[in-house]
Amino acid sequence: INAVQDTVQRPGRSVDWPQTGNRPAYVSEIYGTNVFSLKNLQQTLPKPVYARFIQQIKGRQTLDRPTADAVAHAVKVWAMDRGATHFTHWFQPQTGTTAEKHDSFLTLKTVISGGIEETTAIDAFSGSQLLQSEPDASSFPNGGMRSTFEARGYTIWDTTSPMFIRKGPHGTAILYVPSVFISYNGEALDEKTILLRSSEVLSNAAVKLLNLLGDKETKRVYATLGTEQEFFLIDRALYNLRPDLKITGRTLVGTVPPKHQQLDDHYFGQIPSRVLAAISEAELELYKLGVPIKTRHNEVAPNQFEMAPIFEEASVAVDHNLVLMETLHQVAHRHKLKVLFHEKPFKGVNGSGKHCNWAMSTDSGDNLLDPTLKPETNYRFLLFLVAVLDAVHKHGGLLRASIASASNEHRLGANEAPPGIVSAFLGEHLTEVLNSIEENRDVRNFSQPHLQVVKVGGTVLDLKVSTLPQIARDLTDRNRTSPFAFTGNKFEFRAVGSKQSPSFPVVLLNSAVAQSITEVTEALVKQKGNKPEPSIDDILAVVRKFIAASRNIRFEGNNYSDEWVKEAEKRGLPNIKSCPVAFRQLLEPEHAKLLTSLGIFTEGELHSRFHILMEKYAKDLVIEGNTLKNMILQGVLPAAYNFKKELADSLNSQKNLGLDIEGSPELSTLKKVSKLTAELQQAVDKLSGIIDKVNGLEDEKQGDVAGTELTVSLDEVRQAADALEVYIADKQWPYPKYTELLF
Ligand code: ADP
Ligand code: MG
Repeated sequence: INAVQDTVQRPGRSVDWPQTGNRPAYVSEIYGTNVFSLKNLQQTLPKPVYARFIQQIKGRQTLDRPTADAVAHAVKVWAMDRGATHFTHWFQPQTGTTAEKHDSFLTLKTVISGGIEETTAIDAFSGSQLLQSEPDASSFPNGGMRSTFEARGYTIWDTTSPMFIRKGPHGTAILYVPSVFISYNGEALDEKTILLRSSEVLSNAAVKLLNLLGDKETKRVYATLGTEQEFFLIDRALYNLRPDLKITGRTLVGTVPPKHQQLDDHYFGQIPSRVLAAISEAELELYKLGVPIKTRHNEVAPNQFEMAPIFEEASVAVDHNLVLMETLHQVAHRHKLKVLFHEKPFKGVNGSGKHCNWAMSTDSGDNLLDPTLKPETNYRFLLFLVAVLDAVHKHGGLLRASIASASNEHRLGANEAPPGIVSAFLGEHLTEVLNSIEENRDVRNFSQPHLQVVKVGGTVLDLKVSTLPQIARDLTDRNRTSPFAFTGNKFEFRAVGSKQSPSFPVVLLNSAVAQSITEVTEALVKQKGNKPEPSIDDILAVVRKFIAASRNIRFEGNNYSDEWVKEAEKRGLPNIKSCPVAFRQLLEPEHAKLLTSLGIFTEGELHSRFHILMEKYAKDLVIEGNTLKNMILQGVLPAAYNFKKELADSLNSQKNLGLDIEGSPELSTLKKVSKLTAELQQAVDKLSGIIDKVNGLEDEKQGDVAGTELTVSLDEVRQAADALEVYIADKQWPYPKYTELLF
């Protein structure tokens, strides 16, 4: 009750927006002020040193020491001017979050003056400190790749992502150096190294195809990524009364209130002012950090919201998504709110995802998945499009693995998120275009059919795909049920979980697409024979072949329906419902071969990743099991006993007064509660046994049994507890209910 009063009486936190003169600053004036940009660097470094640095980051060569020293000095001065006392290599171990270890700039220097040694303090930051740091790696997940006696791990500055400062205590600041994290032997221990590897592989493959198509300008292609981040915000006081939310991020007990989202009155509604204040403070910090937040709105469920940035190069977008999550977490705290990134914090209420909008762009910013209005570039689009389809066709299993987690399992396959079947949606128009190419006929069914003829190499050709230019963004219909939907000029990987780093899904997507682009290129080389360049017929022949081969994974209907499950089975598409099965996809020969042959993972790295995922899955479920067990034993059952005692006392007094208690409502409630209590007790005992069983198993078996038995048992206990909640007096119930948490 005190907590509820707290929430009602909270004064809003006001945050001062920076001013320019007498007016609030424009976003563009705030944007990037806490980022050490190339422009900052250019202003401070001598010209030749700056030029050398640019060459080095472009070529991705190792930096030489003098350049690194110069950059380190420049960034130190810049950061100290802004209050920085410390620096940290900031990296992404396989925990889904980021890690940092602060070191101060303090260095002691001994000077000899007048023959006497004296120690003085100076602020220093050397090139080697910038380039490399050595955190103890043994405490991070490594999947058995290293034992503690060879625990050396290195963080190495990722020069492709800019450095930035964040607030420290007492008005100071901390300099963040985005880094990769590798072992003594150079194995990737993090999410970043593999992302950079996959980006390079994708770039090389795409540039080759572009070259073949006559584009000699493009030197680099990069994946673009825009992450739509969904989350819940709830009051901190109430949050603190829920051990399940605190420990596991989701409610393990609790019934759905009479009103939740049936009326669809939350989606795009007015953002509550307390929430708006928090989001806007987060935005302010994110703008300063150069995170291009564009959109904020209410989501479908009560207290659910979304923030989305403008897309960026994938590796930077991943960093920025992680910064967004951290910033939101910190700022929410200041507003006495708690942000929940869990995919399914509330049973029966919509869960959260992180739609990953993904496309490929040339170094001049040309989107390769844009159908464009210029027909002469449509072949390029078609070839890249079929490469993506081929990737999903051949390596859908990897995409499925990339989004599997104990928490996302509650969303996938549940009736709100794309199911465990990976398919791609293209929309009516694009589908018709592909069909027409496949069937070698004109395009039908367009609202304004008009044939276009295009001049290629002096000859006029009928493309048969002439209506492609009409595939403008708003012509593609939306399919909110597809796990992988084409939305105008990008694919939207919708099955990604809200809590996970977008890195792993992007790595596997990049890798699969890179391989398919190579296959498309090879098919085209073969098709063209010894002509210098492929003709349009060559291109269409190749496109046709790939369309036919990947037909299986295209699905335009309702992905949530039972018919699709049946249809997918007929098509031979796997329907992967559980995490252990999904994780094993990583080790399936065709997928493992892809990843190792491209150099994304060594075999050791791949196995270690598999083990880390399995181990985390089992641990997550065991933690949920123990949390639930404690809540039932220490909270729910005692409440039930108390309530039973109250009822029994009441019945006793009535009896003493000589009243007939047979058939009284108290008696029937008492009986009901007694029965439910006994059932709950039984369910908890069973849960307890299964937890012990899982704990007693070795390695992967833990994950397997957790997946088959623990998940079921958790659900059974919950059902029993939720059944009790309905009967027990509100004042006796030990935890804030959904009604209090969500409204
Ligand atoms: P929605 O209607 O699904 O919210 P939007 O058009 O608002 O779709 O875009 C959602 C996200 O997609 C944004 O983060 C946006 O920046 C991103 N996006 C747009 N174009 C691309 C692209 N070419 N590559 C990657 N992401 C993109
Ligand atoms: Mg979207």
